[in-house]
Amino acid sequence: MKFTDMGLCPELLAGIEKLGFETPTPVQGEVIPFLLENDQDVVALAQTGTGKTAAFGLPILEQLEFDQVAPQALVLCPTRELCMQIARDLQNFASQMPKVNVLAVYGGSDIRRQLDALSRGVHIVVATPGRMLDILRRKRADFSSIERVVLDEADEMLNMGFEEELKGILSDVPDRAQTLLFSATMPKEVARIAKNYMEDPHEITVGSRNAGAENVNHEYYVVHAKDRYRALRRIVDAYPRMYGIVFCRTRMETQQVADHLRKDGYNAEPLHGDLSQPQRDSVMKKFRERHLHILVATDVAARGLDVNDLTHIINYQMPDDLSAYTHRSGRTGRAGKEGISVSIIHMREHFKINRLQKSLGKKFTQQLVPTGEEIARIRLMAMAERVRDWESGPGLIDNHLEELNTLLADLSKEELIKRFASIDLHRMLLFYRDAPDLNEQPARRQNASREPNRYADGPRPSAREKRENHEPRKMTQGMVELCMNVGKLNGLTPKRLMAMVNVADRESSIDIGRINIVKMQAYFEVPRSEAQGVIDSFAKSHVDCEGRPVSVAMAGNTRLNPEKSSGHKRKGPVAGALSKPPRKKNRKSKGNRKFHD
Ligand code: AMP
Repeated sequence: MKFTDMGLCPELLAGIEKLGFETPTPVQGEVIPFLLENDQDVVALAQTGTGKTAAFGLPILEQLEFDQVAPQALVLCPTRELCMQIARDLQNFASQMPKVNVLAVYGGSDIRRQLDALSRGVHIVVATPGRMLDILRRKRADFSSIERVVLDEADEMLNMGFEEELKGILSDVPDRAQTLLFSATMPKEVARIAKNYMEDPHEITVGSRNAGAENVNHEYYVVHAKDRYRALRRIVDAYPRMYGIVFCRTRMETQQVADHLRKDGYNAEPLHGDLSQPQRDSVMKKFRERHLHILVATDVAARGLDVNDLTHIINYQMPDDLSAYTHRSGRTGRAGKEGISVSIIHMREHFKINRLQKSLGKKFTQQLVPTGEEIARIRLMAMAERVRDWESGPGLIDNHLEELNTLLADLSKEELIKRFASIDLHRMLLFYRDAPDLNEQPARRQNASREPNRYADGPRPSAREKRENHEPRKMTQGMVELCMNVGKLNGLTPKRLMAMVNVADRESSIDIGRINIVKMQAYFEVPRSEAQGVIDSFAKSHVDCEGRPVSVAMAGNTRLNPEKSSGHKRKGPVAGALSKPPRKKNRKSKGNRKFHD
């Protein structure tokens, strides 16, 4: 269905076209035609970010009597931010209509201005419950002409303890008014309001009851409680373009996590109830405008924050109930975009994940906290991709190119790459060089201690290899082992691997020895003399596996020229091109200590 088929007037159609809305969202497709045709009450189960403001707003605007300047519609919502947002949205939808007066009424601001505006006359009142009831008790609002009442985010209003206010306000609204209740979840309290204040409501469900947003992937990491912050850092580091909210339980924890992140060099700020309103407004503005990438917030403070493009929600601490989790995770995956909801838990919190899986009917995937090596690789590759895709623009550097060339003439291409990469990432690479595995896996630890000599006569596996059960063996004579960055999860099979090696290296056909494909990567043997050629050919050709660019490096324990090694067993680099700087004897060198995990 299109907006033009819904029976909306040309002015409203022009208004939404100006906003760039082309097709109605599912909730709009269900709610708008129903409201234009019926005056039956409606209960709509829909998440934030699904387009519900237009779902109720367009029919309200369509059916306004402009010459009757008395409140004809009342929208109640939980927070001041949401209140201002809804009022702004309604004004925008009506930008091509005769003057529509929409008044936002909320606490924490001068009540006299709101009273004056009400006495001058408005068509639509958007209000938070506390301030609205205050005004009604002063007898300064006349609701006798109200035709529609919207309870937006009803579950949140009840969570915030507004039940009494809602009852007080609803008793001032004429019985004939149509009541619309929008809620992301349907706990008992919301069902009770529907039962007591609505008549035979028509139920509209977009997605399933109590389900989270459709486009959200739910992931969790299991770590020791003391490692929670370190795990958070690694998760943030593993997503170089993260734009998200980290949810904490208390104001103090929120402040502490934000302080730590800032101290450690992240673009993060806190949002909680101990900040003044202007401080909160300023943080939210920065976040909306993307000058801030990570917001650390309490549930209450983040209510009403309306941002569409969040890549992640991180539950630094799990919330106590299902509806809080649904609201948190519903802040990502909005307006048709994909999002990830991450939970950091410790062993004894597994039951919370199981409970959520059952109630939401969604699969939660356990992820392993990335190792230092993996993060280093991700950051380096992200930087390399940026360089590859960067368009330098004509004329910006050209005048200085010759001079730059002369200055760097003595450096080889490899040396240049190394230096450019480490200028940006040096601190991070150094920091993660000896970083421990943070995953809480008691079973694996026990195994390891029971078999101390397991690797006595073979190479010791890298953390990644251990986690993926790749057993390094003595190499076949004359062969070395390479590692590929895709595995079973990317649909890799031995046949595909061999085909890729031969496609990448068109000149020759390589003898491939033993192959071991694990979850996220693959190991394979090639003749020692061919190894560097295979690595280089993958670096040059753009082979990909299910959309993921494939790269190949020496496996964690393999040295291309073992005879050159001085005899002490130092682990080789995973990424062949960029080797670690020589390690200092004292691991806690000054630089290392400065950059706390
Ligand atoms: P809401 O759930 O009303 O807060 O809407 C979430 C976001 O989706 C807002 O930024 C709206 O501007 C946007 N939006 C709502 N309806 C549409 C539509 N039909 N097409 C594109 N964007 C929309």
